[in-house]
Amino acid sequence: MTPPAPGQPAYAALGPETLERIRAALGPDAVRTDTQTLDAASRDASAEVHRPEAVVRAASARHVADLLRLAAELRFAVTPRGAGTGLAAGALAVHGGVVLDLSAMNRILDIDPANLLAVAEPGVIVADLRRAAAARGLFYPPDPASLDTATLGGTAATNAGGPACVKYGVTRNYVLGLEAVLPSGEIVRAGVATRKGVVGYDLAQLLVGSEGTLGVITRLWLRLVPLPEATLARVAVFPSLGEAMSAVAAVMAAGVTPSAVEFLDGRCLALVGDMLPLDPPPPPGAALLLLETDGSAAAAARDMERVAAVCAARGALHQIPAPDEQSRAQLWNVRRQVSLRIHESAPVYVSEDVVLPLARIAAFVETLPALERRHGLTIYAFGHAGDGNIHINITAPTGADDALEACVTELLRQVVATGGTMSGEHGIGRAKQRFLPLELSPASMRLQRALKDTFDPGLILNPGKMFA
Ligand SMILES: Cc1cc2nc3c(=O)[nH]c(=O)nc-3n(C[C@H](O)[C@H](O)[C@H](O)COP(=O)(O)OP(=O)(O)OC[C@H]3O[C@@H](n4cnc5c(N)ncnc54)[C@H](O)[C@@H]3O)c2cc1C
Repeated sequence: MTPPAPGQPAYAALGPETLERIRAALGPDAVRTDTQTLDAASRDASAEVHRPEAVVRAASARHVADLLRLAAELRFAVTPRGAGTGLAAGALAVHGGVVLDLSAMNRILDIDPANLLAVAEPGVIVADLRRAAAARGLFYPPDPASLDTATLGGTAATNAGGPACVKYGVTRNYVLGLEAVLPSGEIVRAGVATRKGVVGYDLAQLLVGSEGTLGVITRLWLRLVPLPEATLARVAVFPSLGEAMSAVAAVMAAGVTPSAVEFLDGRCLALVGDMLPLDPPPPPGAALLLLETDGSAAAAARDMERVAAVCAARGALHQIPAPDEQSRAQLWNVRRQVSLRIHESAPVYVSEDVVLPLARIAAFVETLPALERRHGLTIYAFGHAGDGNIHINITAPTGADDALEACVTELLRQVVATGGTMSGEHGIGRAKQRFLPLELSPASMRLQRALKDTFDPGLILNPGKMFA
């Protein structure tokens, strides 16, 4: 087992007796210690690797409660895990112990059109809920790019976002209530199953985004909205990122709320430009916007007309409309290929997801070439222009760890100094834990550590993440 970090309590190894007690409580098939299962649970989508001693599969809230009571009594660490697509090493067993696999709790319990409500277990895949809701004429908007694999529990625990946030908001805006198991083993209901509710502190919203450090989410009451009748997409290429961003501001000011406003900087466009019919090819430094409108067919078309007019007035060099589902999927494929191609371009890859005030994005991105020169690295910028969430991907040759650390530290300092925040979606987990004091004051850190202590005095739930 990994030795405890300074100031953190030691955890007991999972001996045969402990494993037997977990089996007795959760059933003989709930506990896995085979190499293949432990290897798979040792990784998420971050670069870190931490091996658990066992993977325990829960089938109910009662299972989770039984496990956490045993963990408190026998002092082993428990790390909740959905699909393991997290980018911050949040689902990794930094202190060994058990990875608690929630993927089998995957029932959609209700889709209720009369109350615009879904009730679901945490292991439901986001895309499955979206499909089930769409079949009833309803829409669950949160759309992280990982939606075909990420779970509702994981996306609630990380307050995941996606392109649709610009119009519809993040996961938090759709969690009305939840059931969670506390580290004590108590099962609590938090929040509501209604459209409004103000009784007591909002524990549901505290648990959303808490990255599995305060409680294990075992059921969710989720707000749905009517399914838009139509969605239209368009790509617009501008001579520079500054011009692209001024078009974004102008689109927003034109009374249109697009349902997606994504951007690629010149370097990203150079990586995927071959996938688009751009003739003549855009000049170096050109930037791309991918915009969508939705609503009734007439409203989506009217809004897209305005978007196109604003882009033309702001100097777009090319515009490629996607009038049908197939061409829309092709445009999104270009956007999704960016990360993959950046990954392929260098052996080492760090992904930051900072958020900046909208009006400062262009000026901020202009500072990146100097930053990369100072540290001898390569920086790509793309992401959700409509809500200021920029994915800064830094690539390096192997052996450049010190330069990467220095570059990331400088970048995050600059983001905070510019009035931004260090993570818009991916969370803190283990990967960003050391940077928290760059953004949070000592008083805020103290208060948040005290919250963790109140929920989890024995530090058995997801230790080594965020504030513990
Ligand atoms: C290709 C790719 C694209 C991505 N795109 C986006 C994106 O557009 N937007 C975005 O926000 N993220 C994105 N991500 C990151 C990731 O998909 C999200 O963080 C997602 O919310 C994680 O869901 P998961 O089920 O995989 O959770 P996991 O990775 O298993 O866990 C994530 C965190 O949640 C905790 N957790 C999981 N389940 C529970 C539960 N039931 N109760 C309490 N805590 C729990 C874990 O302990 C961990 O801290 C992307 C990742 C990849 C690989």
